[in-house]
Amino acid sequence: MPWRDISSQPLVCDLLRRTLKNGRTHHGYILSGEETETEPVALAFAQALNCEKDDGDACGKCESCLAIAAGRHPDVYETKAESRSRRIVIKQVRELERSVFLKASHARTKIAIIHTADRLQPEAQDAFLKTLEEPPPKTMFLLLTEEPQQLRDTILSRCLSVRFRPGRERRKTENEQKVEAWLEAFAAPVPAAESAAIRAYGFVGNVLGMLKEMRDEKLKATMELLDDPSNDHLEAVQRARLEEQLEAQAHADYLHERSRILRHMLEWYHARSPGSRAPDILERLSSRLNRNVNESLAWEIAMLELSTQPGLLAAGR
Ligand SMILES: [Zn+2]
Repeated sequence: MPWRDISSQPLVCDLLRRTLKNGRTHHGYILSGEETETEPVALAFAQALNCEKDDGDACGKCESCLAIAAGRHPDVYETKAESRSRRIVIKQVRELERSVFLKASHARTKIAIIHTADRLQPEAQDAFLKTLEEPPPKTMFLLLTEEPQQLRDTILSRCLSVRFRPGRERRKTENEQKVEAWLEAFAAPVPAAESAAIRAYGFVGNVLGMLKEMRDEKLKATMELLDDPSNDHLEAVQRARLEEQLEAQAHADYLHERSRILRHMLEWYHARSPGSRAPDILERLSSRLNRNVNESLAWEIAMLELSTQPGLLAAGR
């Protein structure tokens, strides 16, 4: 797809088009933005890099452009989180590397696209880092993510980061609206009779309660599905496996929603209180949560820290 056909991200397209035209491409890019926005840009970039016209744009009609659009170009490799674990495991990274290192290339630039790159498992990130440090020639890695903060600094520092502007039409989710209302109350000036700590605990209770409710609903739906007469034919082993899969899915959804809320809080503080320490505090919270510590304790520590931030309390309208 030619750049001009991607109307929603003119700045991003212009940046990539110019680097191509000047022959200044990098071997690794992190495209961070909504999946629906980053995927078409990654494909357009892959096409432009290999279009037979070779002028920094994709014609959309030559054999190379058509093959990439159809997902059957021999030198464009893609990997994404497996449906069961919702993680990108080390085996997938190894396969991707084998492809870019060993296969003969028809293309000017071999492209490896990692979808939902934030789901790379820690060991997979370590393995991938080695490739980024010594990339095979004429190869480009495109990491697509909605949550770049989940990637290791060592990976972030070896790639060019391209941030997509949030879609203007994107509407806040119901949960994001709730969190925003709670944040407004949390950051408003504290009356003498109320302590900041109580507010912090209240906020944590609200957020965790919302997340738990979401997970419980999913698990309930899981049980209903298993109890459905249409599943009566399942053997016990199949049943157990299905149950395990559905539970893993509910847990992955929980983690995903939690990251989304953290990102939304970050954006909120960024808009309301630029220059505060809130980003550091939220970053620390995120990394603590990823280490599977006591979840509510981690939240409480972070919210207590946030409540002592000068400027934040005054930021309430
Ligand atoms: Zn073309």
